[in-house]
Amino acid sequence: MGLKLHNTLWRKKEEFQPLDPNHVRMYVCGPTVYDFAHIGNARPVIVFDVLYRLLKRLYPKAKVTYVRNVTDIDDKINDRAAANSETIRNLTDRTLKQYREDMLALLTFPPDHEPRATEFIEPIIRIAQKLIDKGHAYAAEGHVLFNVPSMPDYGKLSGRNRDEMVAGARVDVAPYKRDPADFVLWKPSRDDQPGWDSPWGRGRPGWHIECSAMAMELLGESFDIHGGGLDLIFPHHENENAQSCCATGSWPMARYWLHNGMLNFGSEKMSKSLGNFRTVNELLRDAPGEALRYYMLTGHYRQPLEWTNEGLKEQKNALDRLYQALQAAGDAPPANEVPLSVMAALEDDLNTPLALSHLHEIASQLNKAADPAEKRRLAGELRAAGAIMGLLQGDAVAWFRWQPAGVASLDETEIAGMIQRRLQARKAKNFAEADRIRDELKSQGVVLEDTAGGTTWKRAS
Ligand SMILES: [Zn+2]
Repeated sequence: MGLKLHNTLWRKKEEFQPLDPNHVRMYVCGPTVYDFAHIGNARPVIVFDVLYRLLKRLYPKAKVTYVRNVTDIDDKINDRAAANSETIRNLTDRTLKQYREDMLALLTFPPDHEPRATEFIEPIIRIAQKLIDKGHAYAAEGHVLFNVPSMPDYGKLSGRNRDEMVAGARVDVAPYKRDPADFVLWKPSRDDQPGWDSPWGRGRPGWHIECSAMAMELLGESFDIHGGGLDLIFPHHENENAQSCCATGSWPMARYWLHNGMLNFGSEKMSKSLGNFRTVNELLRDAPGEALRYYMLTGHYRQPLEWTNEGLKEQKNALDRLYQALQAAGDAPPANEVPLSVMAALEDDLNTPLALSHLHEIASQLNKAADPAEKRRLAGELRAAGAIMGLLQGDAVAWFRWQPAGVASLDETEIAGMIQRRLQARKAKNFAEADRIRDELKSQGVVLEDTAGGTTWKRAS
């Protein structure tokens, strides 16, 4: 059927056609590294990871390049480093390491390139200079500003008109701005702030130009997909697009702009400023990363998603049912082909809720199947259907043995020892002792299952 994606630029679903069929290119705005990622930050990472997997599957002969940047220069970083009495480099390195670990725990692939803004200062300066030379930017009091009225198409991506943009600009407009909507490409740094030499004095880049520079260097002047959260459409993406297009003379910067909806905690928007957020790192103590990922995919990426603790439990249980089906079938390696129903759902603007419902349909067929060969075939199909969404790749036995952090419980060696003692008691026909051991394990949240192949165990959820 072919991939269809909702393009923010045209506000409609469009058939996806890569500019170069041999090289599919995607850029996603990444984290500003000064603190733990909250679960809302993980949404674009998971959504675009599914798209990355899908692109690789749909273009098996092409190279697929996924770039996700790291903003490692920002006033929030400077403030946090000062508050912690640590160097900026130490803070950004430490935070980035944690970010990578957390995103791996959510079973996302690392991007092909993870550029740091501070490693792209030279191209940033070059683009700012080019914009000045072409009459789209000007230097004033150590700043370089993009002149918004110089670009007739400005506002097209976000769909904002001039009045709305000016109303959105801060009330007291800096005196050096020619137009209230003009925005910063470069700004001066004080001696105690990080800075680089430039034609306009020692300074540092504005946020938007980082992404223009990194995307242009790694993906070329125009590329296929640009992704990020809905909150980045204006001003960040509007400004990125304006800078890149005015510098290169080709419009648009990316042909397909995709934006994920926000995550609400309960009914409120989750945000650091409201203080109602939960970090990925905290949540990974309550549930396996795969359950967090599954929960995220239960909503369509363009819609808001309500995140609750009860919801997480429910979605973990839903994933339990899929692993239960695999385990009962004796498992199988993934099939080569992803089931058509799942592909069709994902190709229709990443309809992950529909794709998940197809996973459950396969699992229920699997539960009903009697023929061992049919069971194996369906288990392989379920594994393949999970793989394209980054799910169901783990061992089913290990899945049921996962336990939350900080819970005092028997470890696996102790459990194996007790199962062994129970087996000996049964051999000696001491059934009272065997039952006592089973009950003791049960009181510790460990459930035994006697099968033809021996006794297995899992943790009660
Ligand atoms: Zn960006």
